[in-house]
Amino acid sequence: MNKLDSELAAGQLEAAGFVPARDEESACLVLLNTCSVRAKAQDKATSVLSDYTQDERARNGHRLVGVMGCVAQQMKERLLTAPYHADFVLGTGNISQLREILERLLAGERGILAYEPECSGWDYDPSTVRRKSLRSAFVAVSRGCSNLCSYCIVPYVRGTIRHREPKSIIEEVKLLTETGCIDVCLLGQNVNAYRYDGVEFVHLLERLAHIDGMRRLRFITTHPKDLCLDTVKMMAHPPFAPYISMPLQSGSDRVLCLMNRGYTKEEYMEKVCWLREHVEGCFISSDIMVGFPGETDADFEDTLQVVRLAQFDNVYSFIYSPRPFTKAAGFGNEVEREVVKARFERLLALQRENNTKRLRPFVRKTVEVLVDGMSRKDRSACCGRSPQNIIVNLPDDRCEIGELVLAEITKAGIHSLVGKVTKRLMPAPAPKP
Ligand code: SAM
Ligand code: SF4
Repeated sequence: MNKLDSELAAGQLEAAGFVPARDEESACLVLLNTCSVRAKAQDKATSVLSDYTQDERARNGHRLVGVMGCVAQQMKERLLTAPYHADFVLGTGNISQLREILERLLAGERGILAYEPECSGWDYDPSTVRRKSLRSAFVAVSRGCSNLCSYCIVPYVRGTIRHREPKSIIEEVKLLTETGCIDVCLLGQNVNAYRYDGVEFVHLLERLAHIDGMRRLRFITTHPKDLCLDTVKMMAHPPFAPYISMPLQSGSDRVLCLMNRGYTKEEYMEKVCWLREHVEGCFISSDIMVGFPGETDADFEDTLQVVRLAQFDNVYSFIYSPRPFTKAAGFGNEVEREVVKARFERLLALQRENNTKRLRPFVRKTVEVLVDGMSRKDRSACCGRSPQNIIVNLPDDRCEIGELVLAEITKAGIHSLVGKVTKRLMPAPAPKP
């Protein structure tokens, strides 16, 4: 969701006449998009902000610095004063005001706060999204979340769930495919809770699946309690990509109840079985939290047991971080730091084994890769994603962002594959005039 918000902001900057800077040093404006899901992300955002406004401003006095995203929504006017000194702050529901704020900044105004306490609007104008590639797009179907998981700050910084009109989603996707997009990822904190005037998520998927030109249709994030069998059966057919992100959070029913997640481990596993049965080769990614208040050794063993049973293809694991406004922050019952660290390491080690097992069978197989950027490790090598959303590095080939190729896999790592292009299926689309 933050990536899409950055693209929305980039579109407005462009419309106001700004162009991307060659490098950080030469930028005349820096806009930090921030996350406050964990304290570490928030601390990083405020520390980077201070670096920009203090050290950098001393060297580069003209530079304007702004903050958007969840930290902006959470800290508001505090970011305009010491020690942060941002020039402007943009709440999560105020991205569409960026252009007007830029005009005020250029007229010499500073210390601008655009903030909506309830964060109840939609604030999404598809015509202003500036995407990196014309081949892939994030498309929001809902904003905010009403689930109130006891650890999560999202409902407080992004508001309660608001659903987007189906007509507007369908129009945006049609327009995207007409200009060469083949890979659409629908976004919502809980996409499966989507409903608008009797149209439920599965109905929306049905309508989108019929749009010409679509090759990979995905959605994130799936809340296990809201995933229905009809959606899973629909995922079995093109243009759906065989990929799902379905956070488990914990494998202990006791902890899941304290987290207010609304499912048990048996119910979660039932949905994993649906996916394995109906969606051939489906990659299942999950989020797991370690060290929730009062998590016992037995609770943690339950989590490991589900990880073994589910054979996740990928897991994003997090150490629990108490967040303001949330119920769990008042639970007390903190788990000792050393215990949490040891559990975290065990979870990582187990998932590393699973990842390796899941990626190894790709070696010597041919996979379709949509090139989307440069490799993290080697900035001269390009990389892309397979339909299962696996990163495929293509170190020996020259490709353009947006190209669709077939690659033979030569090596499997823990989190990514290495391949060699064997056929070029589609060139990168021509940029808009
Ligand atoms: N909507 C998604 C869902 O239902 O799971 C998750 C969105 S949340 C922004 C992304 C991930 O951050 C969560 O799945 C959770 O594992 C992690 N997370 C959220 N709050 C956290 C906290 N207080 N401490 C540590 N991790 C947290
Ligand atoms: Fe946070 Fe739960 Fe909503 Fe996900 S479903 S955003 S974890 S409150």
